[in-house]
Amino acid sequence: MARFFGEVPAPDRRQRPAARQRICEEKSVLLYVHVPFCRSKCRYCSFYSNVFEPSAYAWYLQTLQQEIRLWGQRLGRLQVDTVYFGGGTPSLMPLADLDDVLSLVRESFCLAEQAEITLEANPDSTQDVSWFRGLLSLGVNRLSLGVQSLADEDLVRLGRPHSARMAVEAYGLARQAGFGNISLDFIWGLPRQKLKQWLDQLKTAAKLGPEHLSCYGLSIENGTELHRMSQEVDLELPSEQEQSKMFVYGAELLESKGYLQYEISNFARMGFQAVHNSGYWEGRDYLGLGPSAVSTLGRRRFTNPAFMDAYDAAVRGDFSGLDFEELSDQDRVVELVMLSLRTARGLELARYRRLAGADLMKRHERLIQALVQNGLARINRGRLRLTKEGMAVSNVIIARLTE
Ligand code: SF4
Repeated sequence: MARFFGEVPAPDRRQRPAARQRICEEKSVLLYVHVPFCRSKCRYCSFYSNVFEPSAYAWYLQTLQQEIRLWGQRLGRLQVDTVYFGGGTPSLMPLADLDDVLSLVRESFCLAEQAEITLEANPDSTQDVSWFRGLLSLGVNRLSLGVQSLADEDLVRLGRPHSARMAVEAYGLARQAGFGNISLDFIWGLPRQKLKQWLDQLKTAAKLGPEHLSCYGLSIENGTELHRMSQEVDLELPSEQEQSKMFVYGAELLESKGYLQYEISNFARMGFQAVHNSGYWEGRDYLGLGPSAVSTLGRRRFTNPAFMDAYDAAVRGDFSGLDFEELSDQDRVVELVMLSLRTARGLELARYRRLAGADLMKRHERLIQALVQNGLARINRGRLRLTKEGMAVSNVIIARLTE
């Protein structure tokens, strides 16, 4: 690890960002804002988030605004193509605070006119139709609603503080308010979940008609309540074979309903692929704001401190002592393979050759032949793509291709 800002001049605080933001650089960046508060902690959650508490929130908001100003002074001419409020539960933020944060982003950076602005919302913290209209009026043009399951017994097992009915109602209100780009988040492979139950949920979800669906397999992470429970009782998780069917049949079902699987866990109607998340998979630069947020600018990757006092100290000190990781050529090759093979577009072989200085097909000739013969991968128009069956075992394939 090295120090990040050793050679970067400290910002001139007399300079106002507004004076510079008119001339935007061609280079662009994605902006992620982490909101580390939730109504309660879900049993499976390993994200950095705390139960909402007004004074901690006020401290966070103030520090976040200072961080935005700081980065605006450092990078202000870069164009911001997307803003993604994630968490945590960004829908817990009062509209007035979201307004302030977005205004500050507009003032501090070159926010693209057509920027995709996403807000993650949980059904327990959304409000009435005027609240959704308020979001739209602030410029939020994409809503990502954390449904997770349409069966109340699943939601109870996951420790979610809402019911399926609340999720469907929140979706209806967002539509009524005029949201034209809504994503619903689901988790499959839940304790006691059966294949048919999962597929029935997807059918119901597709009937609601969201533009986008994210479907993640449950992962039991160390340090979570679910992990602790798994040490004491059998969670009755679906077998590997059942999980594989949930993944493959679920993807086929959604495709039959008009949703393109453009990434392992993401499905969209034509033209509604998430610009922000696609940017991660394409290896674009992103700036993460807020506690625990990760940024990658060029070859440099760094993570904000998670705990509020350390985060606050880092921002107050202009991040002058923040450690960063310098991505090596090998790191970048591994990331290219990992991220590209998650997507339906697959890995561009010429890009691999340019970056790695070697031919992937020659380097892994026998493995790739076997993948193709077994229906796990295809080679088409200079790209290596995983099939649905290949995506179901992508971790193993990617590990072999990056050895
Ligand atoms: S709402 Fe999301 S971020 Fe918050 S505890 Fe639950 S899973 Fe974690």
